Amino acid sequence: MLVVKFGGSSVGDSNSFKNVASIVEQAIVRSSDGLLVVLSAMAGVTNLLINGANQALDQNLSESCQTIELIRQKHELAINELFLATACKQELNLILENYLKELFILYQGISYLGELSAKSLDNISKYGELLSSNILYRYLLSLNIKADYLDVREVLITDNSYSKANPLMSEIKNKVFDKVIPKFKNTPVIVTQGFIGATQSGSTTTLGRGGSDYSAAILGLALRVQAIEIWTDVDGMMTCDPRVVPNATVIDEVSFEEASELAYFGAKVLHPLTIRPAVDNNIPVKILNSKNPTHKGTLISNWVNPDLNKALIRAIAFKTGITAIFVSSPKMLMAYGFLAKVFAIFEKYQTSIDLISTSEVSVALTIDDKTYIKQIIEDLSTLADVSVKENLAIVTVVGRYFRNQSGTAGYVFESLKNINILMISGGASDINLSFVVNDNDVKPAVKLIHDKFFAKT
Ligand code: ASP
Ligand code: MG
Repeated sequence: MLVVKFGGSSVGDSNSFKNVASIVEQAIVRSSDGLLVVLSAMAGVTNLLINGANQALDQNLSESCQTIELIRQKHELAINELFLATACKQELNLILENYLKELFILYQGISYLGELSAKSLDNISKYGELLSSNILYRYLLSLNIKADYLDVREVLITDNSYSKANPLMSEIKNKVFDKVIPKFKNTPVIVTQGFIGATQSGSTTTLGRGGSDYSAAILGLALRVQAIEIWTDVDGMMTCDPRVVPNATVIDEVSFEEASELAYFGAKVLHPLTIRPAVDNNIPVKILNSKNPTHKGTLISNWVNPDLNKALIRAIAFKTGITAIFVSSPKMLMAYGFLAKVFAIFEKYQTSIDLISTSEVSVALTIDDKTYIKQIIEDLSTLADVSVKENLAIVTVVGRYFRNQSGTAGYVFESLKNINILMISGGASDINLSFVVNDNDVKPAVKLIHDKFFAKT
């Protein structure tokens, strides 16, 4: 059994739907005992749905109506281009019409009440996925591919944390057993939605923006599939951002930990936390490109090819817009409890710290959320001397066995002889060496390291 998930860019227009249908057709061959297709909304539709709600909240119902119009046009165009038979077109246009009527009523409600709760927003956001999945399901049927449709809210049960709902895994497993497995007795393919779910009492929830990957992992785990395929619009995770390093290459295989380090610092392919349920249960996750389906992509799993261990580094990631705070106090010398006081201040202002490096009497920290920087500095100043530097970037080198292997740090910093490094942090993880540079040095820095480790000689 397989789960294949297609992101918004893979169902952006009629041609993309055609691509998806042919990928699905091939996936059926690879997965003889069942294929669950999890779909995102058509590209841009979730944003439109949310924009319309905010326009209604601002008492601009006529703008909300224009937004509904944009949503209508996008789907109508895809429907008209995909289907030849008038009956199919009519059926789908009717579904579209009904959903848009409901949407208008919801927007009206928001505008009358002047209130937009997370619960209402989830109710509004659901239409993107409901529409895309209806279109693909009927398109597969029109190609004579035997398929069934599942409203995922029947099985993906969550708590009631609207807009960031948490799956209730044992409920989901039971529902999948009752409602999905039996369907596979009669059909090789089931088309369903990502992103949305429902509480036990049936009210619609969402897993958070970009949540379809999470849906794929949750459903893949419940179905105990052999693999989960995340189809997107890039070839996979890369050795570096190709916009900065044009000769960056796709990484064939990464461990879950490596993928996590890379994602946090800028590699936007997918958020690994969302696929954690799968990887933790030894279900491999593949990232594939629906626009280039023959490319091997990237495999994220718990098992890593031992040959890859020979490489000193696997990839380089970076994150700009970082602020460093340097705290120093002679009171720190031979004292205990000082760092606890420093960290308590960050906890008080709910500000997450990215990197830390310490000496006997000072500590340097970086943050990327500057909301409470003034308050943090004020509080820190009661403990120590504080200085702040903004417009910095973190560069993260992801590798293997940093603690047990010589050479990596040497190579990295040798290549950066002419770059000013403000802070270094390494050794906390066996696979992450990070350092801080000025924002305008970050591109030359990552290029230099990439050339050093990956340039073919
Ligand atoms: N359509 C939702 C979003 O845009 C979920 C997803 O695409 O994963 O956030
Ligand atoms: Mg999306």
